[in-house]
Amino acid sequence: MKPDLSIESLALPHVAAMHAYVPGMQPMESGWVKLNTNENPFPPSPKVIEAIQRELANEARGLRLYPNPTSAPLRATIAAHHGLKVEQVLASNGCDDALNLLMRVFCSVDRPAGMTVPSYSLYTVLRSIQAAEMREVEFDRSFELPIDAIASSGANIFFLTSPNAPTGVSFAPERIAELLEKFSGILVVDETYAPFAEQNCVSLLADNPRLVIVRSFSKAYALAGMRTGYALANPEVISLLDRVRDSYNLDRLAQVAAKAALEDQAYYQGTIEATKVLRDKAAASYEERGWFVYPSAANFHFVEPRKGGGAGKAVAQDLFQCLLDNKILVRAFPNHALTQSFLRISVGSAEEMNRLGEILDAWQKK
Ligand SMILES: *Cc1c(COP(=O)(O)O)cnc(C)c1O
Repeated sequence: MKPDLSIESLALPHVAAMHAYVPGMQPMESGWVKLNTNENPFPPSPKVIEAIQRELANEARGLRLYPNPTSAPLRATIAAHHGLKVEQVLASNGCDDALNLLMRVFCSVDRPAGMTVPSYSLYTVLRSIQAAEMREVEFDRSFELPIDAIASSGANIFFLTSPNAPTGVSFAPERIAELLEKFSGILVVDETYAPFAEQNCVSLLADNPRLVIVRSFSKAYALAGMRTGYALANPEVISLLDRVRDSYNLDRLAQVAAKAALEDQAYYQGTIEATKVLRDKAAASYEERGWFVYPSAANFHFVEPRKGGGAGKAVAQDLFQCLLDNKILVRAFPNHALTQSFLRISVGSAEEMNRLGEILDAWQKK
């Protein structure tokens, strides 16, 4: 007789017990104003389209062949862009791939990971795959960097998002340098939103072999659909990550698209500046409504809506629902005391922000 084993009982217990990451809603039909996943309202550079078309020339025969296994041309471009050596760069299938590789190399049952709370919830999912503990360091409402709490967290690898998500608050490199003095593990600074910010940690790499910076082409480079990102670190760290990554982790189209994007700084400086103008205008409009909003160095705002003088979870939920009813998607975080009265709203195109403004006016009058 066959033993009666459920599929789940055959799976690793910690995997059977874990939950998948819940991404922001991606509606299939058109007509939605998407301000929930911080995608770029501007199209990618025309140079990206040309690069992809070149790759598809000659009846796409190039696609018969495997891509460059180490993404060498792309990595050379990334290294030059940051003034680093190629051995300090890992190209990844989205920033998420780099985060996953870092967890695999530096975190397991007896090597805890750490993160600030609130921040990017994927970190928790990735450490669950490793059956590892997560040392959570709580922010307070000031959202200042809790240096001592991180330093004494006991984490083998700590994930810090700067500019932070969901608040948009950016941490000064001087403070992060101070943290590196006190914390003895690997410090990952997730700089997905750094191209929108006035400061970043790249210059700290020179003196800090335990620092890893991860970046993404999804937000500032308008390539979320291509899945490209990278890690910058000491060559020893990169070499470790290289051992566990997929041997062809970036496909041909992703490699040429990301390379062309990074090479067209003139185009992206334009769209980033335009995004910042829209961002600062949006912040002023939220403040005019009497809402609390954190100073954002990213392409979104973390806002605490108010109605009739009051704020709170119910107010945030009411506005979330009202926006949803009007086909505007934003992100709510109802599960934490510091986030439940807030909504995270991406910076969209001028038209999208005008539409948002109309619905907010109507909601506030209701
Ligand atoms: C969007 C986001 C990512 C994911 O980047 P991909 O390159 O799309 O994988 C990583 N970290 C943070 C903080 C993000 O907001």
